[in-house]
Amino acid sequence: MSISHSTWPVVLVAYNLPPWCCMKPEYVMMSLLIPGPCSPGKSIDVYLQPLIEELKVLWEVGVETYDASKNKTFQLHAALLWTISDFPAYAMLSGWSTKGKLACPCCNYDTSSCYLKHSWKMCYMDHRKFLGMDHPYRMDKRSFNGNVELRSSPALLDGEQIFEDLKDFDNVFGKKQKNKIDGPWKKRSIFFELPYWKQNTLRHCLDVMHIEKNVCDNIIGTLLDIPGKSKDHANARYDLKDMGIRKNLQPKEIDGGKKAKIAKACFNLTNQEKTIFCDILKSVKLPSGSASNISREYEEHVNNQTKGRKWKKAKTLSHDFSEWFKERASHEDVSKQLKDLSRGPNTVAKRFSSYVINGYKFQTREHDASHTTQNSGVTLVCETPSFASAKDNNPMTKAVTYFGAINDIIELDYYACFKFVLFNCDWFEVEEENFGLTSVHFNKRCSRDDPFVVDIGG
Ligand SMILES: [Zn+2]
Repeated sequence: MSISHSTWPVVLVAYNLPPWCCMKPEYVMMSLLIPGPCSPGKSIDVYLQPLIEELKVLWEVGVETYDASKNKTFQLHAALLWTISDFPAYAMLSGWSTKGKLACPCCNYDTSSCYLKHSWKMCYMDHRKFLGMDHPYRMDKRSFNGNVELRSSPALLDGEQIFEDLKDFDNVFGKKQKNKIDGPWKKRSIFFELPYWKQNTLRHCLDVMHIEKNVCDNIIGTLLDIPGKSKDHANARYDLKDMGIRKNLQPKEIDGGKKAKIAKACFNLTNQEKTIFCDILKSVKLPSGSASNISREYEEHVNNQTKGRKWKKAKTLSHDFSEWFKERASHEDVSKQLKDLSRGPNTVAKRFSSYVINGYKFQTREHDASHTTQNSGVTLVCETPSFASAKDNNPMTKAVTYFGAINDIIELDYYACFKFVLFNCDWFEVEEENFGLTSVHFNKRCSRDDPFVVDIGG
């Protein structure tokens, strides 16, 4: 739970126990605890050395063990079957880089990849190669990449072959040697020191929990067409055009090429359909732990870390959030959107004197001054905890309306992933008058510590 450390436990699971108990905490063994502050990367082999030494003894010599059922001792032997990790750790354990053109360790040099230049992404296609030779999808050009697929699936990377290929590989560990090695192999994995490892057919497995979550997030983001989360965006449509497939979905130039029209896809939902979809999601009751909420995750964290009064906790919450968020997101396998958000915006931002959001035009005070219209006023209703004093332990939370004027409009760019618009405002004291009118005192400023309002725009 420490903010600056990422610690890597290496846990052994005894697989000859019944499946329902082999993953229970009392039956797993923590063999190593690799200290932070950051991920060990491919140098994880250095830390694994004592474990590999013990596994070798367990295989070759065994250890004398007491058998309670027979009331005598026997020589216990054990073998490592496989590793289970997420996709980035797969690269650390196997030595095969799981990024870029040859990201699939199973398809290895035959990984089908192509770069989408509009989306700035590597994509992995041609999965029809894995189907039976007579599968109808293989001849279906229209639904896939425009061609028939007659190739067979790539051969699995054989352990003996890897052992042979990498037997003279010059393993270099530590930070200084980073990025010097070309090609997908970054090391000869220490697991090959186990005499049986090269004969294991399945050496590394993936923990699908995060993969399922990411796939689900992307499907929901695309179905609901959430800006920044949908995979069906304008750039994706231009990539379709480059690939020469799905003509009806390609952008069509109108107005002599000045604008492009993008047709709706068959899975796009109407607003009404989206509402039905969200209502169902909202009403679904899930077991605890299945659904997550970022701001609630963080609040728990602060409550565990910070001893002291609620007033201090509220201060810490707003002060350290960005650092905590960045650190936590970098070490967890969270969605790309969350990662992009956690990295913070580009330090170069655009400044506007006028901005249109949801059909409303907002202008800065400076801009207003030279015009006959006034578009710099803003009101904001927000849930505000009110502390009677710094010692107040039971703050009241209620909706408070703030009145202000815009000094500055800044558009934050999260490296082309999404944009947020910030209004830098002065807030003013207000007074309820008779007849329900509110008068705003432009000479009395309040809430000077929170000048920003954010709009989650497109
Ligand atoms: Zn593959």
